[in-house]
Amino acid sequence: MYKEAYELIKNSKSIVLISHVNPDGDALGSSLAMLPVLKKMNKKVRVVNVTKDLPSNLDFLPGFKEVKRELPKNYDLIISFDCGSFDRLGIETKEAKIINFDHHISNTRYGDINLIEPDFSSTGEVVYKFLKKNCIEIPKESALCIYTALVSDTGFFQYESVNERVFLMASELVKLGVEPDFVAKMLNEREPLSKIRLIAKILDTLTLYLDAKVAVVKLTQKMLKETGANISHAENASNMARSLATVEVGVLLREEEDGRIKVSLRSKNYVDVSKIAKMFGGGGHKRAAGFTSRYSEFESVLKELLEALKKEL
Ligand code: 5GP
Ligand code: MN
Repeated sequence: MYKEAYELIKNSKSIVLISHVNPDGDALGSSLAMLPVLKKMNKKVRVVNVTKDLPSNLDFLPGFKEVKRELPKNYDLIISFDCGSFDRLGIETKEAKIINFDHHISNTRYGDINLIEPDFSSTGEVVYKFLKKNCIEIPKESALCIYTALVSDTGFFQYESVNERVFLMASELVKLGVEPDFVAKMLNEREPLSKIRLIAKILDTLTLYLDAKVAVVKLTQKMLKETGANISHAENASNMARSLATVEVGVLLREEEDGRIKVSLRSKNYVDVSKIAKMFGGGGHKRAAGFTSRYSEFESVLKELLEALKKEL
């Protein structure tokens, strides 16, 4: 499959690298990792993400400024990254062939070639395997992007997906010139005041349910307006809710611009939140998953969710 994907790339002229809406470090990192590789192969390449405000803490990734919101006029191959279902790419067309690089167990396999590794730490690790399998030299810029993808999706080597293979990859990326302290500082030590103000407001809503095993926090559009923060600044709120000693599942209920409610789920030890997210039309991983609710009032979303969680706790 990895060889087949490489053949398809070799036989394409104009390639789009695209990741899911509201991208994280893994989504943007893994797509940008392929940019210098394809440029070296003399391909016409465009990196696309339809999101208006990309997370500014990812602006150090080589190629970040080249990311466009629109597809080019002509292209013959789409490579998607870190995206479990086609609709989360935010594009209409499905004319060109698709290679689907991902690590979500819930991936709907919408590609013509699907490189899905549910046991992998990150989509960045899938890109790394692709480069290794095809004996492609890893450019320094790509190493930085893959390392960023890796630490973004493992919370800096914290989660169950972290194993010896992950550390061996990290070791090679460092050998190729990645400076771990630089990446950590870029990602974590450049917070805008608006984000801290927003987090204070979100944490103020924290409520415990089901014997304090579930912690729920809320984000409204009003909070975004009051603080001047944007939606990506709330990324960590569900992790914070989970971090409480008694809590197994942390939940963020987020009001979107269009009034719909996006639910982020994080579990600690035993609840498979991807199973829960799937029940409501979403997806993700065992310990991190999400969905957009059919309800648009917090109370209804929460009632339905708590009923589902009760059975798993
Ligand atoms: P987050 O809570 O950070 O938005 O997402 C956590 C994980 O669940 C990510 O891996 C993300 O791709 C997945 N996820 C979040 N929302 C959705 C959704 O609406 N549909 C699907 N398929 N996956 C989602
Ligand atoms: Mn990922």
